[in-house]
Amino acid sequence: MGICDGRVVVITGAGRGLGRAHALAYAAHGAAVVVNDVGASLSGEGRDDSPAEDVVAEITSLGGRAVVNGDDVSDWDGAGRMIAQAIDTFGGLDTLVCNAGIVRDRMIVNMSVDEWDGVIRVHLRGMFCPVRQAVDHWRAMSKAGTPVAARIVTTSSGAGLFGSVSQANYSAAKAGIAAFTVVAAAELSRYGIAVNGIAPSARSRMTEEAFAEMMRAPQSGFDAMDPANVSPLVVWLGSAPCHVTGQMFEISGDQLSIAEGWQHGAVFDKGTRFEPDEIGAIVSDLERESRQATPVYGA
Ligand code: NAD
Repeated sequence: MGICDGRVVVITGAGRGLGRAHALAYAAHGAAVVVNDVGASLSGEGRDDSPAEDVVAEITSLGGRAVVNGDDVSDWDGAGRMIAQAIDTFGGLDTLVCNAGIVRDRMIVNMSVDEWDGVIRVHLRGMFCPVRQAVDHWRAMSKAGTPVAARIVTTSSGAGLFGSVSQANYSAAKAGIAAFTVVAAAELSRYGIAVNGIAPSARSRMTEEAFAEMMRAPQSGFDAMDPANVSPLVVWLGSAPCHVTGQMFEISGDQLSIAEGWQHGAVFDKGTRFEPDEIGAIVSDLERESRQATPVYGA
């Protein structure tokens, strides 16, 4: 018995890297999988169905069930086709894993508006479109009185939670995904939909050059940066037994934690409106009383 026996899962960006590992893991745990991937370059250019086709071939050769979807996650109609394909092919939809992503790293002083827009589009619009299409399906089921145990897993990043130098576009997108995750969890629980996110760390084409030393596979022993190490959490978050919603998990090799997120800090209560020239001293006191933020990566 697999933890996802009988479930139908859509995974975006599942032709390579983490998404591929998630697709193989879901299939191994009993799910039927829609392997979505547009087959783009790391910066989001071009199309190629072969990465998704290879993953589907790998799953089916192991006795699992999977189909290719080549739609662009940030295309509204394409996202609709992806969700409809799951329902038409496998008879339903239980879990959506939003994983597709690109990077266009640049310092802000050199970043073009296209580099900004491309990254924001794939990560944020590319999460919203499939979520919105899937939620339509689950909300209709819920209103018809059919029990729903739907799950959405979003993919943020340490860059989104803490910031990352030369990745302002990506960090902003991933912070947006973290915020969306808690709002979606709050709005959608009434329909039986749980929404959680991950901030993973693993070897893929996105990281193997930028963090070469950290990502290198060891000669022997536990290969902490194998993307397959992230997938057990993602499979559990997409399963019916998952009992949490609105959480953001950091996962790296054998390390799992819940990110604590923004919190209200110490409050100075003046009792009336502040004057600009008194604020500096008050802020110094508040800084002393507040927890230090995790440093921005690369700062
Ligand atoms: P990857 O480049 O190996 O995989 C991303 C996949 O998304 C690619 O196969 C690509 O073709 C696909 N894709 C891109 N644009 C798409 C679109 N518009 N529609 C459909 N598919 C599209 O990278 P990865 O490291 O496996 O990244 C997976 C996710 O994890 C991304 O969201 C990434 O930002 C996030 N992430 C990765 C790490 C890490 O350590 N690898 C860390 C933090 C977050």
